[in-house]
Amino acid sequence: MFENASFVISNTDHNLCPKPDKPEFAFIGRSNVGKSSLINMLTQKKNLAKTSGRPGKTQLINHFIVDDQWYLVDLPGYGYAKTSKSNRVAWSIMIEKYLLERENLQMVFVLIDSRLEPQKIDIEFVTWLGEAGIPLGLIFTKADKQSINKSQQSIARFRKVMKETWEELPVMFVSSAESGLGRTEIAEYIHGVL
Ligand code: GDP
Repeated sequence: MFENASFVISNTDHNLCPKPDKPEFAFIGRSNVGKSSLINMLTQKKNLAKTSGRPGKTQLINHFIVDDQWYLVDLPGYGYAKTSKSNRVAWSIMIEKYLLERENLQMVFVLIDSRLEPQKIDIEFVTWLGEAGIPLGLIFTKADKQSINKSQQSIARFRKVMKETWEELPVMFVSSAESGLGRTEIAEYIHGVL
């Protein structure tokens, strides 16, 4: 588990992010997928990441330091329907640069809503990460909103789509910010990489 987490800095330019002197794990997903809630659940801090009243509004790379050991990075979400084209372009440029050039990045956790059929935008993003050779994990969120059986079916459908093009599937977790499901597994996994 994690003992302590605090905010460090927000940036639009990955060159201005903290010195890459500690390993870093990033979290990303479709806007409203439950990313802020998950980060708060993992760190046991209620308002560490801002839950989005206005989805898609902030386009910042947010760094948090955990246990003086690693950086947790909250990346801006994608797929917010109402955002402008120029916002979307700015998002891609910022995120691609960050993901491709951040030297201390260990892994990207892509959050997927466990209630939904595989979404094209998620598959495309995950495929892009795979092709770029960026290590990733999947976290299926909001599992409390349905039976665990339904979440498992959702994961199975996602696996099936991925298997069409992936030889080795990424690590997968199920989570709930409400119940804390997945917290131990994700924390142990991160500790295992550190
Ligand atoms: P973000 O835009 O990805 O950061 O998503 P938020 O964390 O702001 O969550 C979006 C909405 O989903 C909010 O209304 C949250 O309360 C809700 N939510 C997030 N995670 C969970 C969860 O695990 N269970 C339930 N029931 N609701 C959740």
